[in-house]
Amino acid sequence: MLAGRRVIEAQNITVHYGGGSIRRTAKVTALEDVSLSVEAGACHGLVGESGSGKSTLGRVLLGLTAPNRGRVAIAGFDPARLARRQRPAFCRSVQCVFQDSGTVLNPRLSVGRSVREGLDIQRCGTRADRDAAVAALFERVGLSQTLLERFPHQLSGGQRQRVNIARALSVSPKVLVADEPLSALDVSVQAQILDLLHGIQRESGLTIVLITHDLKVAQEICDTVTVLEAGRTVEHGRADDVFANPKHSTTRRLINSLPTPKFA
Ligand code: ADP
Ligand code: MG
Repeated sequence: MLAGRRVIEAQNITVHYGGGSIRRTAKVTALEDVSLSVEAGACHGLVGESGSGKSTLGRVLLGLTAPNRGRVAIAGFDPARLARRQRPAFCRSVQCVFQDSGTVLNPRLSVGRSVREGLDIQRCGTRADRDAAVAALFERVGLSQTLLERFPHQLSGGQRQRVNIARALSVSPKVLVADEPLSALDVSVQAQILDLLHGIQRESGLTIVLITHDLKVAQEICDTVTVLEAGRTVEHGRADDVFANPKHSTTRRLINSLPTPKFA
């Protein structure tokens, strides 16, 4: 069993967008009083339909969106109240991977260089040490060393997503927030990337927040889940329990919308 040490604790998070008096934009409540806690080494799923607030919660955890109300503690930091000198340590501790849109990686850097960047910024070891670290990261995410000098557009979507994962892992984070990491990939590749994330979580004890609209994805690898609807938590708990015995109509709807397995 997990020791139960919490790496993420978000309490009563509320986020509004818009509502500006100057441009008179309509106010959208993206999250309303959402709380979350994730144990060290767990994979926690944030699931819900499009627009339910998943990405907003991910952005709050990453410190990219400041909540209007509520507090977050993640890897020992409060992302909404980081002192400038804490930023580098926060960025090492909490990394992210997004949907591969083909534009996440710098198109002018070889993918090997992209993975090296974080190590170069931190001036980790000698040049040779960093080369060795990049080679090891490629190996770890299942990329051939022959791809090191290639550019992003020369890779497939799945390979690019492996590069993004290697980049995130390069600084040895405690938490990885993955927002729809499979959405842009072919179905066959989705399973491989999901396996990769699962393997990394098990081997390294990385804590993962997996944001997905696809309940099946969460079912595959999540230990615990939060189901969001219209910015509110409708259900949360151990993934096995939630999926075996869904209490809320939204969860049941998400389960029922899954295609019936062809070979079951
Ligand atoms: P999800 O990731 O579950 O699809 P989001 O967190 O992206 O949901 O969005 C939640 C709600 O907030 C939606 O109604 C969306 O339209 C709105 N929203 C998201 N980002 C912004 C933004 N930058 N400005 C205004 N509204 C936004
Ligand atoms: Mg989203």
